[in-house]
Amino acid sequence: MILDNVTMTEFESALSKTKTMVVPYGTVEAHGTHLPLSTDTMIIEAALKRAAKEREFFLAPALNYGVCTSTAVHPGTITISSETLRAITRDIVRGGYDKGIRRFILISGHGGGLHSSAMREAGESLTNELKGATIAALVVYDILPKEARAIGETKHDSHAGELETSLILHINEELVKGRSKEEYPHLPRPIIAKDKLKYWPGAVHGNPEKASEDKGRRLMDIMVKSIVELIDSVESFEQS
Ligand SMILES: [Zn+2]
Repeated sequence: MILDNVTMTEFESALSKTKTMVVPYGTVEAHGTHLPLSTDTMIIEAALKRAAKEREFFLAPALNYGVCTSTAVHPGTITISSETLRAITRDIVRGGYDKGIRRFILISGHGGGLHSSAMREAGESLTNELKGATIAALVVYDILPKEARAIGETKHDSHAGELETSLILHINEELVKGRSKEEYPHLPRPIIAKDKLKYWPGAVHGNPEKASEDKGRRLMDIMVKSIVELIDSVESFEQS
């Protein structure tokens, strides 16, 4: 059930079939010179739209802004603060709860550390606050089995690399503008550098040149399967 498209009466009658809402989290974030800024949002939304064909749940509109740190100064990135992400997460979940939703899956296509911590932190406080609510907060890549990683040939593939590029080739090939070069960030961690462009000019972590639509299709199949399993486990979980 795509929340964007249902009416108030359809929403109300659907509550007798499901009390689960899945909220996709994305970013507006530089993904090399070859991928669109909304790459993370597009990937998670595409996977969830397919999962919605296999299970009954409310698919909420995506939260298309996230917390980006490593790419914060790159052209195009529009980041929000962890504080904002926690606040909007609390509002969305409380809003759904007030309307009868009891199970919430907050799932991100963006794997940033502060971003996912903010999601989990909000999930922790909401779980304590909302009686009878079950909340899962996660980055989609964290629930993929080993075989998903094995689809890629790049050893340390991540942001805008082989796999994300393959996924966007699968979702909408026209959005992929050539290929950025293989690159790995060399941020001077644990020092927090202000000029991140100096250490990571291309905003690519991996090798986009190894990407293919076929790899994207196979990875998407695994992603959808993992999400469906997650929904099943959240729905069968008994919150004590
Ligand atoms: Zn990404």
